[in-house]
Amino acid sequence: MAYATINPYNNEVVKEYPFTTDEELQTTLATGHALYKQNRQQPIAERAKILHNVAAKLREHSAELARACTIDMGKLLRESEGEVELVAIIADWFADHGEEILTPEKVDTIATGSAEIRHSATGIVMMVEPWNFPYYQIMRVFAPNFIVGNPMILKHAANTPTSAKMFADVVAEAGAPAGSLVNLFLSYDQVTEAIEDPRVQGVALTGSERGGTAVAQAAGKNLKKNTMELGGMDPFIVLGDANMDDVADIAWRARLYNTGQVCTSSKRFIVMDNVYDEFVDSLKEKFSQVVPGDPLDPSTSLAPMNTKKSKDKLQKQLDDAIAAGAKVVYGNEPIDLPGQFFKPTILTDIDKDNPAYSEEMFGPIAAVYKVHSEEEAIELANDNPYGLGGIVFAGDADHGAEVAAQIETGMVFVNNFMVTLPELPFGGVKLSGYGREMSHIGEMAFTNEQLIVKTEKPNLDNVAGGLVATDIPPEK
Ligand code: NAP
Repeated sequence: MAYATINPYNNEVVKEYPFTTDEELQTTLATGHALYKQNRQQPIAERAKILHNVAAKLREHSAELARACTIDMGKLLRESEGEVELVAIIADWFADHGEEILTPEKVDTIATGSAEIRHSATGIVMMVEPWNFPYYQIMRVFAPNFIVGNPMILKHAANTPTSAKMFADVVAEAGAPAGSLVNLFLSYDQVTEAIEDPRVQGVALTGSERGGTAVAQAAGKNLKKNTMELGGMDPFIVLGDANMDDVADIAWRARLYNTGQVCTSSKRFIVMDNVYDEFVDSLKEKFSQVVPGDPLDPSTSLAPMNTKKSKDKLQKQLDDAIAAGAKVVYGNEPIDLPGQFFKPTILTDIDKDNPAYSEEMFGPIAAVYKVHSEEEAIELANDNPYGLGGIVFAGDADHGAEVAAQIETGMVFVNNFMVTLPELPFGGVKLSGYGREMSHIGEMAFTNEQLIVKTEKPNLDNVAGGLVATDIPPEK
C-alpha cells in the first residue's frame, strides 16, 4: 500500500510520500551499523542526555504533533495530546533509569575467578509499527533501544506517514546522531531485505497476526531475535459484588477510547447474572451519549475510524456476527457524516460457533456475555485464542487479583482502566504475541547478555560439571 495521509474525518488526501529506494535502504544500514560501533564506545549517560532532550522537544512541538496524529488517523485531538505527553514521559523514564537497568550483574559461581553478565548493544533493530498510536508505538521500542545503543530503522503504517516523519524529525532535532532512528517508507519486500541483512540484529513488530506472521517468518528464517505485540480480545469481568457505578464509568471508556482501536480495548464484557441487566443498560446509556464529529473539535467525543478499509472490515464482521445469531442491543446504524464513522454497537447472545466469539473486532463494538459463576467467567475469559490484557471489577480488590491471576493474559488490571507506563511491562501470550516492551524487561529485548569470567591465571582445579578440560595423557 502507498504511504499517504488521508484525513479520515473528511477523506481529503493531505500528503503522499514516495517509497524509499533500495539505495536509501542500503545507506541507512551502513549509517546504522557505523553508529552501532560508535555507540559501543560511548558512555550511556551521553545518550540519556539526548533522550531527555527528545522528551523536551516532544513537549515543545506537542501541538503540531498532536494535530498531525489526528489528521493522519482520526483520533480525538485531546487523545493525541495525551499520547504526545505519554511518549515524553516514556523518554524521560528511560533516560533516568535506562543506565541502571544495564548495570552488569555479578554471578555467584564455583568457577575460578569472578563472573558477570554485561548487557550490551547488538546492532540495528528493524521496527514495524501500526497506526493506532502513531507516536507511542514507536517510543516503546525507541527509548529503551536508544539507551542500549541499538540504532533503529522504522517502517510505520502506510496511513500514518506524517506522524512517523515528524517523530523521526524530533529525534534528530534533539541531537540524536544520524542513524539513531531512521524512518523509511519501505515496501514489504524491503522490510524482508532489511531483516535478512546481517547488520540488523533485532526485529520488533506491533500489529496484527497478518503482519506478525509475515515479519516473524522473515525473522525466524534469518535467525533474528524478535518481539511480537499482536492483537487482543481482552475480557472485562464484572463480578457480582462489583461497584456498579465504577463499572459504568470505566466500561464504555475501555471500549470506546481511540474509537475502540486499541489492542487492549475491552472487547468482551463478561458479566455476572445478578448485575447483567444493570450493566447492559448503563453501557447502552453511555454509548448513546457520544457525539460524532470533527476530532479536532473539543466538543466531539466519537472520532472516525482510521480508514475506510478498517470501517468496511468491521461492518462485515458485524454483519457476519448477526447472521450467526448475535443480537444487536444497541447501534449498527449509519452515522450521517462523510468520514469513517462507526456507531458504537453492543452485541449479546454470541455463541461459541459465532465468528465474533474468537475474532478480534478492531473498532467500537462491545460483546457482552452473561455468566452464572466466577468459574464460568474465568473459563470464558480463557477460551480465546488471544492473551493480551484484561480488567476485573470486584467488590474486594484482593479477591479481584486472585481472579486476575487465573486469566491467561499478559496484563490484568483490577478495578480500573488499563494504563500504560514506562515502568510497566507491556505484552501478551498466545496469539497476542511474545516478548515484552517497556520496563526493564523491554530494555533487554535486544541486548547481548554477555558473560565475562575473569581470573588472574588459569586454574583447572575447580571445574565441575559441564565441560571439563581433559588432561593430555602422558607420553608412553
Ligand atoms: P498490521 O496490518 O499487521 O500492520 C502493522 C504494521 O505491519 C504496519 O506497519 C504494516 O504496514 C506492517 N505490515 C503488515 N504486513 C506486513 C508484511 N507482510 N511485511 C512487512 N510489514 C507488514 O496491523 P493493523 O491491522 O494495521 O493494526 C492493528 C492490529 O495491531 C490489531 O490487531 C491490534 O490489536 C494490534 N496491536 C497490538 C498492540 C500490542 O501492543 N500488542 C498494540 C497496538 C495494536 P502497512 O501499513 O504498510 O500495511
